Amino acid sequence: MELSYWQSKWRKGHIGFHMKNGHPGLAKYWDSVSFDSNPVALVPLCGKSKDLLFLSDHCEKVIGVEISEIAIQEFLSENNFTSKKKTFADFTIYQTKNIEIWQGDFFKLPSHKISSPGLIYDRAALVALPPKMREVYAEKIIELASPHTKIFLQIFEYPQHEMNGPPFSVSVKEVEKFFGKKFSIQILEKNHQDFKNFKNRGLHSYFIEILSLLLPEEGWI
Ligand code: SAH
Repeated sequence: MELSYWQSKWRKGHIGFHMKNGHPGLAKYWDSVSFDSNPVALVPLCGKSKDLLFLSDHCEKVIGVEISEIAIQEFLSENNFTSKKKTFADFTIYQTKNIEIWQGDFFKLPSHKISSPGLIYDRAALVALPPKMREVYAEKIIELASPHTKIFLQIFEYPQHEMNGPPFSVSVKEVEKFFGKKFSIQILEKNHQDFKNFKNRGLHSYFIEILSLLLPEEGWI
């Protein structure tokens, strides 16, 4: 998926992935994930997600990364935030409250400038990417993680031959392949979802959402 693909989606307002009230799984599982202290949360491919607000209330700091400036401007204006702007390398960084949104290509994020996250929150990020890019994404996530990082991950499983992504179908097996050496994967829930919006793209069998928590294996570094 080219960056221009996403920028054009935002320009045209074709953002079916955006959830008006955020993802309910975040609040539902928050208390069962134990953190040593208030974590720094990293949100790759954050869009204008309302989940950033929940995380801002529950974390020391939230760092979102998003290519579309429109998404960030909409996030700020829809939530009545004013922001300060600075730049670093290829990124423009928007700061408001304890939220920092780095506007630029996630794959170029300078990991040495990012505080070690206690949580990486992936909602509709891994599944936004085609197979080859998912591999590179997983490597980048591992580069940004540390032995205390927990990853909240949402994936979708459906017959890929029936419909083209995004969202792409990503199996638990693929998640194992990417993260299994460093994380143990705990499935939180599997939900058969209504997929009427995908029917005109060819999907006719099933569409399952899987929420999982990836917990760091002892001493993986
Ligand atoms: N997590 C968000 C958005 C998911 S859709 C939510 O829950 O609503 C994927 C988002 O990733 C889009 O907003 C797209 O603009 C952004 N994106 C795609 N590739 C990117 C990249 N390489 N770097 C930064 N953002 C990217």
